[in-house]
Amino acid sequence: MPSPSPTTILGVAVPSPLRRLFDYRAIAPPPGGWRPGLRVRVPFGRREVVGIVIECRDHSEVPAASLKPIAGWLDDTPLPEDWLWLCRFTARYYQHSLGDTLTHALPGLLRQGRPLEARTRETWRLTPDGQSLPAEALARAPRQAALLAMLRQHPRGLATPAIGAQGFTRAQLQALASKGLIHADLEPLIEAPLPSADRLLAEPALTLNGEQAQALGRLHDGLERFSPALLHGVTGSGKTEVYLQLIEAVVARGRQALVLVPEIGLTPQTLARFRKRFRVPVVALHSGLADGERLDAWLAALQGRAPIVIGTRSAVFTPLARPGVIIVDEEHDGSLKQQDGLRYHARDLAVARAHYHDIPVLLGSATPSLESLAQAHSGRYQHLRLTRRASRHAPARLELIDTRGRPRRGGLIPPVIEAIRQTLAARHQVLVFINRRGFAPTLACEACGWLAECRHCDARLTLHRQPHQLVCHHCDHQQPLPDACPQCGSADLRPLGTGTERSEESLAGLFPEVPIYRIDRDSTRRKEAFETLLNEVRRGDPAILVGTQMLAKGHHLPHVTLVVVVNADAGLYASDFRAMEQSAQLLEQVAGRAGRAEHPGRVLVQTQHSDDPQLGLLASQGYDALAEQLLTERRAAALPPYRFLALLRLEAPREEAVQALAGQSADALRAWLADQAPEVHCLGPVPAPMERRQGRYHMQLMLSAERRSRLHEAGAWLIGWLEQCREARRVRWSLDIDPQTL
Ligand code: ADP
Ligand code: ZN
Ligand code: ZN
Repeated sequence: MPSPSPTTILGVAVPSPLRRLFDYRAIAPPPGGWRPGLRVRVPFGRREVVGIVIECRDHSEVPAASLKPIAGWLDDTPLPEDWLWLCRFTARYYQHSLGDTLTHALPGLLRQGRPLEARTRETWRLTPDGQSLPAEALARAPRQAALLAMLRQHPRGLATPAIGAQGFTRAQLQALASKGLIHADLEPLIEAPLPSADRLLAEPALTLNGEQAQALGRLHDGLERFSPALLHGVTGSGKTEVYLQLIEAVVARGRQALVLVPEIGLTPQTLARFRKRFRVPVVALHSGLADGERLDAWLAALQGRAPIVIGTRSAVFTPLARPGVIIVDEEHDGSLKQQDGLRYHARDLAVARAHYHDIPVLLGSATPSLESLAQAHSGRYQHLRLTRRASRHAPARLELIDTRGRPRRGGLIPPVIEAIRQTLAARHQVLVFINRRGFAPTLACEACGWLAECRHCDARLTLHRQPHQLVCHHCDHQQPLPDACPQCGSADLRPLGTGTERSEESLAGLFPEVPIYRIDRDSTRRKEAFETLLNEVRRGDPAILVGTQMLAKGHHLPHVTLVVVVNADAGLYASDFRAMEQSAQLLEQVAGRAGRAEHPGRVLVQTQHSDDPQLGLLASQGYDALAEQLLTERRAAALPPYRFLALLRLEAPREEAVQALAGQSADALRAWLADQAPEVHCLGPVPAPMERRQGRYHMQLMLSAERRSRLHEAGAWLIGWLEQCREARRVRWSLDIDPQTL
């Protein structure tokens, strides 16, 4: 075999939107030699940035004279190969720059060049001398004796701060250390001495019911290979228990489990449930972590010290030393898709990643996405059903209540108010779901019909009372209330419609004797506020909860036996072809809050369209029946999951600039498609559903194809065209692969 050519050139990914590597001249290598995955410092423009070596070569297309040398290397061990693969796959699939993708996937401190070292703490233990020392030996130094006795109670060691918290001083530690009785080690903050398989659990697992046992059995059969499965079970049917027991099996084999949950689902409650079950560390990765904590968690996963990692969307990029399973909870949830920059879908990447690692991937939901249902129907995913609630009661059915022509108070019509009254009289709790925070969706002039609108967006301003102002929920623009109508001068300005604040106020008027808890982004801005509210609610006294989406998912509200949906129509008739799917998922999620405990629940859904056949189907037969019908429709209309989409979005402050570029790119693309890929369709350009947003004009162009690969070729060509197009420099554009919202 010829010896490999020496590495003289390094192809480096740097943080930049440009979809290419940059070549640098190699310098003296780190001890292990040049390898892909090494972080390096490189000159880039006028700055020095942290990049990652992707290719080690002996040649470059760039003339030798203009090649700059690497400024220095940061690590002598490269980032793992499988992690690099994931980032490269992501960049390729979502047609994004690799440098930006890597930046997204790395913790902030590593992006800034910090070493790949976990923070450590000093941990004290007895030496053999200390262990054998007779109790009376330190009689003349009682504090030292007490310290020694305390450490004897902790054979796995105690960290310095914990010792300090017991009132001991460093001088006392040093005195014992100088006598050779104790010693300190520096240990990573997250440390998992793996307990033997029979000591893995801190609390016994539940005895599974028949369906759960069958599902777990089939998952066990697939533990050693890529085996995607959809765990499809109503809220409360015991999906989480199946996850826990699957994780147990994986960790017992010495492997790691990665669990992805929606943003709203990573609650202290969820974490507590995982942590209570296992003796091993359960590491959480979420946006609330400080930089140092994030790095520790990431390195613990990378080095295999974290057997169980739970995180939101971006945790799909967590490196794992010994991957064993990936679980995606609430796989239908919109928050799994990133909506700006690198527009990836964490569920889809989880499946790709599991395929690469040849491990199982489990997608769980009460209301699976049509994408995953179609995979299950075709047999590519195992379809594991849990049809019964682990507790006694069947899930509550939706009851549609037509609101047309009926008087309302706080958005509620009389029979609904009566149902609330009865529920409270029975000493149960009521959840009023209203998908709009603030006091009222807008402010209107009684005299001329003027509506308060955002000056930066094609949207109404929401009226808030706390504090009293008008707010745009799309761009966050805030302004004081006008004293009079800006159009006709009338002083008769009134709130129009109902938001959470108004609902709270009306309900307080109707039921002055019960506490009302409002739970939305405004009432829970402080981190602990949400948990404090929930803890009060869980005490179980009669109460009304008024809340948005925040309440719809994940939270266990065992005392709620009546759920009221104030307005089911809000999202239903949007232009988006996913509107019905998403509304139905949300309604089912909200309904899932009711009657989890010993009381069956009722779910009253107010609508102006109680005769809508699909809403009717959802109410009478549930989500699964509706999903089948929607799938049939999607197939007939050639829409996902039977076709693949990519959406080109264009935006700029000037409308003409956007229109011109949108038109040109559509023409250029159509000409190319006619010649190269006639089976790929191009629709548009059309104005985006909200054409003006944050003072910018938005247009879009849709590509669709039956085969993913053809769509990607077309997308790549379009990006190439835009990158060299001069007009495109004045317009911000992005290509969204598998867009979730149009
Ligand atoms: P899901 O994740 O599908 O919403 P959970 O796993 O949270 O369901 O289960 C709902 C409730 O039922 C929880 O309180 C859980 O402890 C309980 N549960 C789940 N499985 C069992 C079982 N096999 N036996 C008894 N209780 C169970
Ligand atoms: Zn007016
Ligand atoms: Zn706005």
